[in-house]
Amino acid sequence: MAHDDSAKTSSSKLVIRNIGLLLSGDLASPILDADTIVAVDGRITAVGREKDVDTTQATMTVDAKRTTVAPGLIDSHVHPVCGDWTPRQNQLGWIDSYMNGGVTTMVSAGEVHTPGRPKDVVGLKAMAIFAQRAFHAYRPGGVKIYAGAPVIEHGMVEDDFKELAAAGVTILGEVGLGSVKDGKTARQMVRWARKYGIQSTIHTGGPSIPGSSLIDKDMVLETDADVIGHVNGGHTALPDEQITELCARSTRALEIVHNGNERAALLALRTAMELKQMDRVILGTDSPAGSGVQPLGILRLISLLSSLGNIPGEQAFCLATGNTAKIRRLDCGLIAPGREASFVFMDKAQHSAGKNLLDSIQKGDLPGIGMVIIDGAVSAHRSRNTPPATVAPEVVK
Ligand SMILES: [Zn+2]
Repeated sequence: MAHDDSAKTSSSKLVIRNIGLLLSGDLASPILDADTIVAVDGRITAVGREKDVDTTQATMTVDAKRTTVAPGLIDSHVHPVCGDWTPRQNQLGWIDSYMNGGVTTMVSAGEVHTPGRPKDVVGLKAMAIFAQRAFHAYRPGGVKIYAGAPVIEHGMVEDDFKELAAAGVTILGEVGLGSVKDGKTARQMVRWARKYGIQSTIHTGGPSIPGSSLIDKDMVLETDADVIGHVNGGHTALPDEQITELCARSTRALEIVHNGNERAALLALRTAMELKQMDRVILGTDSPAGSGVQPLGILRLISLLSSLGNIPGEQAFCLATGNTAKIRRLDCGLIAPGREASFVFMDKAQHSAGKNLLDSIQKGDLPGIGMVIIDGAVSAHRSRNTPPATVAPEVVK
């Protein structure tokens, strides 16, 4: 479903009422004492009890029917290529499918699956600028895709990063997927990128596919990228002692991915908890990949980390929303005035053994999605991909 920009000329007011459980996305207070959200022109303007907020003159009212509302999920690690197509498994419509898994924002870790990907400096810059522009303009299912993530190659100089930043590039693709495999060069380029406001991510662990290579903890620490990409491997993880050392010695973000080693994911989570640095943990799928397209990948990670990692469900959601938004400097991911009005409505899946949504997640089940809203507009009603929600919200006006 494409969003219709022509409809945005007059002011819109969305009221979501009768919320049973409101998840904030913020680890400091993951559950809000509120049952109503008001959003004007795609931005949250008020959160509170229905009697305390102005719900008049709404252009759309959603009755949440006492279900759970959370910020739209953020996938911190995707590999888009062009439009809603991935050549990795030659699938169409994957981004729209992820939206049906609650994802409203994606961050590219490099458009590395592009057939014939240019590796010369002018070519890689052109491709990054193209991807940034194309995904800014084209949003399958309404999903916001921050793409245009060049992979660093030997021969790049400081002016290249300055030029990329001036052209609108804000992120680097995974360091290590190009010809730069040494910490010294990578560190220099990451610093140039940072100087011009471009955020960096490094591939961590064994090679993902033939052609990529091992990045060990020494290379990760020396490069000092902003995000330690797939700290649990993508898919091959580093030895346990290297993972715990990365958590302890670096202060950078710890990204856990669906298409990584699940045991290593639990180790990284446990180590971050012991360090009292859960705010560094963010979630991605690292997909499309050799293991396919995973529309429910972020939900599956939330359920895995909550049920086997023993963290409350409401905290697990923060890793995929507020944490990622803060680290990626995005204005979504939190239920708070001024933030993007993107939401996922969930209920426990039909016939789950859980008592309620959070209990079902803590027991390892996936939630059922009843609605997805992006920028104040409905992108999906009942998800076509999750198990059916016991109760689904309804647009009442
Ligand atoms: Zn990787």
